[in-house]
Amino acid sequence: MRSRFLIFNVTFWSTALIFNACNSTSSKALSSVVYDPVDTDSIVLATPSLLMDKLDSLKKGLLYFPPVDSINKIEPKAARKMLKDSIFLELKKKPKHIYLTFDDGPLLGSQAIDSIMTAKGVKASVFLIGKHAKMSKMLTKYLHRYLDNPLIEAYNHSYTHANHRYQTFYADANTAFMDFIKAQEELELKHKVARLPGRNIWMFDDVKRLDGRNGGTTAEMLHEEGFSVFGWDVEWRLNGKTGDSEQTVELTYNAMKKFLDKNMSLYPNNVVLLMHDDMFQLPKAQMQLGALIDSLKQHPDYNFEFMSDYPKKY
Ligand SMILES: [Zn+2]
Repeated sequence: MRSRFLIFNVTFWSTALIFNACNSTSSKALSSVVYDPVDTDSIVLATPSLLMDKLDSLKKGLLYFPPVDSINKIEPKAARKMLKDSIFLELKKKPKHIYLTFDDGPLLGSQAIDSIMTAKGVKASVFLIGKHAKMSKMLTKYLHRYLDNPLIEAYNHSYTHANHRYQTFYADANTAFMDFIKAQEELELKHKVARLPGRNIWMFDDVKRLDGRNGGTTAEMLHEEGFSVFGWDVEWRLNGKTGDSEQTVELTYNAMKKFLDKNMSLYPNNVVLLMHDDMFQLPKAQMQLGALIDSLKQHPDYNFEFMSDYPKKY
């Protein structure tokens, strides 16, 4: 009997991506997400006894996530609700996983991020741009601080960042793909993990989620090359030049908590926060990052993770 498997329909958990990143325009969720699509038929034909089997396995601590279409076919309505409630109840008991991710480094702000992670003792994931590491000796130094910090894992965010012309960049998927390969080699990155500039695209294991714009072909090429491509659930925005929040620490913390509590993230109990290195140039902003981490650390069931370990399953 399969004891640990997950089946998702993204519309069940959420299609809401509340903020956009990297100069992107609107973020539109599409494309269903299917994790290990086994046993679907048995659920579609669910009988009360089958339902009870599923609930039994939940009681044993095994999580089972049927697709929403299947849940909706379970009769009567009360049984359907019971299954959903049981799943959510089990999720609430499990550890939660926080992924602090920073894009576009090395930049002004990278050194502070590196220091804050060390001071707070939490893991962070940085998605780096190849050409930034060569722009000055100082940025090269920041790159090496990241690479040498055991609390930081460095990943690929392309060499050129598409020169901020995303539509054109992804229209030539081969060139875009090679831009990532160049960054991978020049930054000497150990992990095959990437985030596409200007796009909230996910492609890892059997999961594929696009955002309605081009870039999917580049992501597929990276995935075929062995990369996991990750987007984000929640973005925090802050003006790096002034240190002013366009979005307070409290709002960001509440958004992350809501994504966990309401199962709104791409993967339940795992929430990915997007930030950018240049947000944290000034002490005023750096203090806010520290405050956000302190708020998250108040939860004993929240754990800080690297994106190379995403998603944490049970
Ligand atoms: Zn970026």
